[in-house]
This record gives sequence, structure tokens and C-alpha cells, in this order.
Amino acid sequence: MVEVRVPVLVVGGGGCGLISSTLLSNMGIEHVLVESHPETSLLPKAHVLNQRTAEILSQYGVWEKIASTGCPLKEGRNFRYATSFAGDGPLDRITFRTSLVFGFDDEPGHGHDYHVYGRDSAYRGSNLPLIRLESLNPGKILFNQIVTTFEEKENMYLLLFATKPQAKKRSILPTM
Ligand SMILES: Cc1cc2nc3c(=O)[nH]c(=O)nc-3n(C[C@H](O)[C@H](O)[C@H](O)COP(=O)(O)OP(=O)(O)OC[C@H]3O[C@@H](n4cnc5c(N)ncnc54)[C@H](O)[C@@H]3O)c2cc1C
Repeated sequence: MVEVRVPVLVVGGGGCGLISSTLLSNMGIEHVLVESHPETSLLPKAHVLNQRTAEILSQYGVWEKIASTGCPLKEGRNFRYATSFAGDGPLDRITFRTSLVFGFDDEPGHGHDYHVYGRDSAYRGSNLPLIRLESLNPGKILFNQIVTTFEEKENMYLLLFATKPQAKKRSILPTM
């Protein structure tokens, strides 16, 4: 049995786990993150980052890199809801709704959310897929480990985790 003693153990390498690990690393707190998948999860892959996220990440020097790489939210407009993007059948390529989902637009007649968001925070959100953010995490991650149970012991928690059978890894994650 392998014994791992760390002040902090983060279970799960989704958005919450990864950002926890990033912030812990930033504060110099030793920790390990265990994730049951062979790499960060395939789904869901969040991409919209709101302005509260921007405020938090800016405190840790992460946001500026994201904002310079991501698609500004004001480009998140003119959404089209359609039955499909391709095909020539009777139900294909039918647009049944268009909308300004985020309404982030300075131009008159294009919604006012952009100004509202600007009034509420010095930061605007951005749009950058999680897969491009994962490479920012400098923490120690143990992939293919599933936490099966845990128990409380005096002043510590005992977590048991098992190694999952090796699954095929996807291609190497792109770096920012
Ligand atoms: C299609 C879709 C689009 C979305 N788009 C956005 C968006 O644009 N912006 C946004 O902010 N949010 C978006 N969301 C929501 C966002 O993805 C979730 O809120 C977010 O993923 C939740 O993060 P989490 O870390 O709590 O959980 P998860 O992302 O589910 O991560 C949990 C992780 O824990 C691991 N795990 C679970 N149990 C164990 C165990 N016992 N041992 C080890 N590991 C374990 C899992 O494998 C998983 O990787 C979207 C969601 C979906 C489905």
C-alpha cells in the first residue's frame, strides 16, 4: 500500500479541483490532486468564464494570460439555434431562433448588458475552453486514481484510493 501524507488532498480534477490546486500552488501549500480519469475530464468542458471568476483569478496573476488569449465575451452574440449545421433533409439546417445570448455589445440597439457588467466590475468575462486552461495548473496530479472511501481518524482523514485500469490517453494537451 502506498501512503501519501499531504496537508491537503483535492479529489477530482474538474474545474473546482483544478482551480483549487492552482490557488494552493500559488500560495505554496503542499497538496495532491487525485482524478479518476487518465487525464483531466473529457466532459464537461466549460468555456465561458464570468467576471467574478476574472476577479478571483486576477488576484493570482492568472487572469491576464486568459484575457489575452480568450475570445472577448462581446463576441458572444448572434447565437443561432438550428436543427443541424449540415444535411439536406427537410428538417436540416432550420434556424428556429437567433439571439444575443450574452448581449455584450456596445452598439445601440444590441442590448445593454455590456454596460451593466462594466458598471459592476473592473473585469469582463472571457471565453476560453477549459482544455486550454488545464495546462496552467502547476500542482501535482495523480491520474487514474479513484477515491473509494474515507474515514475520520483523530486529527486527519484517511482516504483510500484505488488505481483504475489504464485507459488510453488522448493526445497531449495544448499549452497556452
Ligand atoms: C455542456 C456543458 C457546458 C458547460 N459550459 C460551461 C461554461 O461555459 N462555463 C461555466 O462556467 N460552466 C459551464 N458548465 C458547467 C461546468 O462545466 C460545471 O459547473 C463544472 O464542470 C463543475 O466543476 P466540478 O469541478 O464541480 O465538477 P466536474 O467538472 O464534474 O469534476 C469532477 C471531477 O471529479 C472526478 N471524480 C469524481 N469522483 C471521483 C472519485 N471518487 N475519485 C477521483 N476522482 C473523482 C471526476 O472524474 C471529475 O473529473 C457546462 C457544463 C456542461 C455539461
